[in-house]
Amino acid sequence: MGSCHWILLFVSLLGLLRGLEASAGDADPIYKACLEQCEKSGCVGEKCFQHCKFSSDGKPIDGPWYLQEPLYLKWKQWDCRGDCRYHCMLVREEERMKLGDKPVKYHGKWPFQRVYGIQEPVSVALSALNLAIQFHGWISFFILVYYKLPLRPNKKTYYEYTGLWHIYAMLSMNSWFWSAVFHSRDVELTEKLDYSSAVALIGFSLILAILRAFSVRDEAATVMVAAPLLAFVTTHIMYLNFYKLDYGLNMKVCLAMGVAQLLIWAVWARASNHPSRWKLWAVVVGGALALLLEIYDFPPYKGFVDAHALWHATTIPLAYLWWSFVRDDAEFRTSSLLKKTK
Ligand SMILES: [Zn+2]
Repeated sequence: MGSCHWILLFVSLLGLLRGLEASAGDADPIYKACLEQCEKSGCVGEKCFQHCKFSSDGKPIDGPWYLQEPLYLKWKQWDCRGDCRYHCMLVREEERMKLGDKPVKYHGKWPFQRVYGIQEPVSVALSALNLAIQFHGWISFFILVYYKLPLRPNKKTYYEYTGLWHIYAMLSMNSWFWSAVFHSRDVELTEKLDYSSAVALIGFSLILAILRAFSVRDEAATVMVAAPLLAFVTTHIMYLNFYKLDYGLNMKVCLAMGVAQLLIWAVWARASNHPSRWKLWAVVVGGALALLLEIYDFPPYKGFVDAHALWHATTIPLAYLWWSFVRDDAEFRTSSLLKKTK
């Protein structure tokens, strides 16, 4: 397929985004009323939650001093809200199912069945696997550039992008860690940490794509590319955390940055004669297909496996191939630099 076809595909993908807006479930008045009632009484139907026992001024009724600490109280409030959301959702979904309605999303997520208090066990397990793959990829890259390939006289690597890949590894492991935490327990704090880490990772990998594909090496040009993007990503993260956690907007920002880097890699793989460009191609095609899973989002099968969980599954082989490309790139650059110096 020519690159024009690719651009068309991506543009049509972006067009689909317009259909994605805030969740229908939490806009439902019956659900809203249930939530309000629950946060006041601490109960949904017969079920009552320990964490929801507050007096009228928001302080707990009794307990030792450490249970009166503001941070603990905040956590308790989050836990109470989480339990209320979960049980109101279950009740509402059951009513809806009886009426023959299809499942709807609540606060950006499909209705899931908890297992031992873990909200999305499949996504948690897959996030942990992703974290392991990223760690493996980074360690093997580390060993390659510092121990297997020759080093410069000043003990630095010949490969110019070593530092950038280290940062990439840290950001991606950080992001998978918070992804696992968030899918275990969805409260405001874990949600913000997960979204922020993901935005940081996607933003940084866009910078990395530009720097590598355009072979940007001198400091001034690097700053010119990185500074505006870093500023944008930082502003977006601050907006999500301190102003409004806007799912629709965040989805658009992440997809725009994601599609931009896929395009950059795709065009570069076509234009360059990199020996491992097939790996790039595979990751780009796989990444685009994986994006489809995020876009054609379907509700969880039996309350467990949804499109998002599958998406986390596809990123495992992609990450493996990706680090393999990074190692090839380090070898390729090192050998061509050595040829030049000889
Ligand atoms: Zn996730």
